[in-house]
Amino acid sequence: MRAHGYAATSAGAALTPLAYDLPRLEPHEVRIAVSHCGICYSDIDLIDNAFKRTPFPIVPGHEIVGHVAERGSAVKHLQVGQRVGVGPQRSACLQCACCETGHEQLCVDGSATAGGGAPGGFADTVQLDAAFAFALPDALASAMTAPLMCAGLTMYNALRKHTSAGMRVGMLGVGGLGHVGLQFAAKMGHEVTAFTLAPSLEDMALVQRLGARSVVDSSDPEALAALRSSLDVIISTVHGKVDFNPFISALRPNGKLCLVGNSPGQISVLGRLVLGQRAVVGVASGGRHDANQMLAFAAQHDIAAVGETLPMSAVNKALTLVRAQDVRFRMVLENEGA
Ligand SMILES: [Zn+2]
Ligand SMILES: [Zn+2]
Repeated sequence: MRAHGYAATSAGAALTPLAYDLPRLEPHEVRIAVSHCGICYSDIDLIDNAFKRTPFPIVPGHEIVGHVAERGSAVKHLQVGQRVGVGPQRSACLQCACCETGHEQLCVDGSATAGGGAPGGFADTVQLDAAFAFALPDALASAMTAPLMCAGLTMYNALRKHTSAGMRVGMLGVGGLGHVGLQFAAKMGHEVTAFTLAPSLEDMALVQRLGARSVVDSSDPEALAALRSSLDVIISTVHGKVDFNPFISALRPNGKLCLVGNSPGQISVLGRLVLGQRAVVGVASGGRHDANQMLAFAAQHDIAAVGETLPMSAVNKALTLVRAQDVRFRMVLENEGA
């Protein structure tokens, strides 16, 4: 079958239309007619070859919603026509210790939806292991559920793993990840402090409507110092370079700084970490069980991304807006008529 997508052919290049043949459909695979695909910052890293391993030409996109167009003979849990979501992972071995304990995202034999050489969701069709296509609850609208498949899964998993009931949670950065994370955190019953750069009164009101109890200007040293030893967990969604030290000081003893963004940063170990007995942990996306639980939780609590949509054909305009951080909060591409 012929698929049509948008591909970068070299580092940083504008995307251009690309037609390609999908491989023969294996018994355990599905083909999905893509209706929506969110733009995650890691799509931009992939296009820019930020990690020096992008296989060009690359069709990015891993926050996918669509309908099952075709299923392999062994696929029983999805029907043709069913609405599904796909996140950053397209396959795993499903046999190793990580896979068997629901941590498929850590499988060393797993592969990425986009970036591992196979085309991703900036396309009309995507083909992958049906184990990584998740049925969507009816209550979730397609466009603003697409970002939940990566941003939502990551934030849900970070909160589930590293928080317990009624904690004081800091959300560092309120962008694509953070605005979803603070909704999940608030609906889980946490008291959320959002950290964002020089927020306007309008920004503060919006972030509070999404569930933050308070909003702190992350560039204000006095505001950060006033939070000393007060938060149980801080989740950093920041993509750029950060001095984490004032945020670690805002953690209680035994508190955790949880990193989900690809953020190079400064952390001083003695004192802040050792004497405060604090921890720094990383969270990489989530497993299949997490994805299903996240979707059910979002449906139950009316959680959706907040953002803008543009037609898939306007992908370069959309990427320019994302690069300029001119999107509040997530950009979603839409295949008209799909
Ligand atoms: Zn992502
Ligand atoms: Zn595995």
